[in-house]
Amino acid sequence: MKSFNFTGLPTRVVFGDGTLAQLADEVRALGCSRAMVLSTPQQAAQGQALMKQLGSMAGGLFSDAAMHTPVDITDRALTQLSTTQADCIVALGGGSTIGLSKALALRTDIKQIVIPTTYAGSEATPIIGETKDGVKTTQRTLKVLPEVVIYDVALTLSLPVAVSSASGMNAIAHAVEALYAKDANPLTSTLAIQGIHALKDALPRIQLNPLDKDARSNALYGAWLCGLCLAQVGMSLHHKLCHTIGGSFNLPHAETHSVILPHAVAYNALAATQAMQQLTQTMGVSNAAQGLFDLTTKLKLPTSLQSLGMTQEQLTRATDLAMANPYWSPRAIERAGIAQLLEDAFHGHRPSAV
Ligand code: NAD
Repeated sequence: MKSFNFTGLPTRVVFGDGTLAQLADEVRALGCSRAMVLSTPQQAAQGQALMKQLGSMAGGLFSDAAMHTPVDITDRALTQLSTTQADCIVALGGGSTIGLSKALALRTDIKQIVIPTTYAGSEATPIIGETKDGVKTTQRTLKVLPEVVIYDVALTLSLPVAVSSASGMNAIAHAVEALYAKDANPLTSTLAIQGIHALKDALPRIQLNPLDKDARSNALYGAWLCGLCLAQVGMSLHHKLCHTIGGSFNLPHAETHSVILPHAVAYNALAATQAMQQLTQTMGVSNAAQGLFDLTTKLKLPTSLQSLGMTQEQLTRATDLAMANPYWSPRAIERAGIAQLLEDAFHGHRPSAV
């Protein structure tokens, strides 16, 4: 076995069905007594319900969390936080709400209890992306890692099927890139394989029955494992493409992941043979890129950048963006290959078997 480094991350995880009932105990266990609740506008009613549940420990609700953590929203939340004198945050929602929680922790070191309701995986990472004047910058710091994560399967039952599928493919993308990461190690590869396995089985079942608690439970577990992969190792081509192209052309975050992933995998296939073997075995397919494309199709997710609103004219600019700021990838980043990858993703071609 090759030498490797592994850093365990200090988050307490409470996983199960109905675990939200333990929230007050978790607040007290942190030594806290007043929690500011965060949500998006769409989940404000759930935020209100949490306030009620917290009773005398409720320290106000801020329900304006938004995608990509805009700093002007963080500034408003920060003002409210200072007036409420809360000593911890309770964030209920997906990556957008958790992003706001992390942004507040980054500035104040306040303790965080996060309650994820999507499969994006942000709760497991010491990573924060923030947007100022339309530019998104990302950093890694333990200051933003939540102290406690409460996974309650019951809260995910309301996640619409299409969002569940896209968010689940977003999670799978973290694990896929972890398999061929430069700093991959036996633990992260095990997490990645288990995460992909749980999600590739659970997502089609959720599509058939969104209230299937066993499938929901497996998907949430898989999402956690995939989030741990994102936390542990460096991502490469796929995440770079999604962040630069998605951000520059204002494409929907999770759907961009599901469109790009099969093509990023096809691009790297010959340079990451061990990862491809692990992927084909885990997914029970003969070709990893095609298997991911077929899963996307089965989940009725968009398969082309065109269907997400990108135009043919934007492809050259997209290639320029992908070539800027060189980064590591199993296969070196070559302009002609990247242009072809984006052309294929634009039209939604099924990758060819290599
Ligand atoms: P999201 O948090 O924006 O949620 C999408 C929508 O679904 C929101 O309106 C939300 O309120 C709603 N929603 C969430 N859970 C629901 C539920 N159970 N029932 C009904 N509606 C529900 O989407 P996301 O994909 O979870 O997060 C995307 C954001 O997270 C992006 O900004 C991305 O960059 C960030 N992200 C960060 C990391 C990290 O490690 N820092 C990792 C992954 C994603």
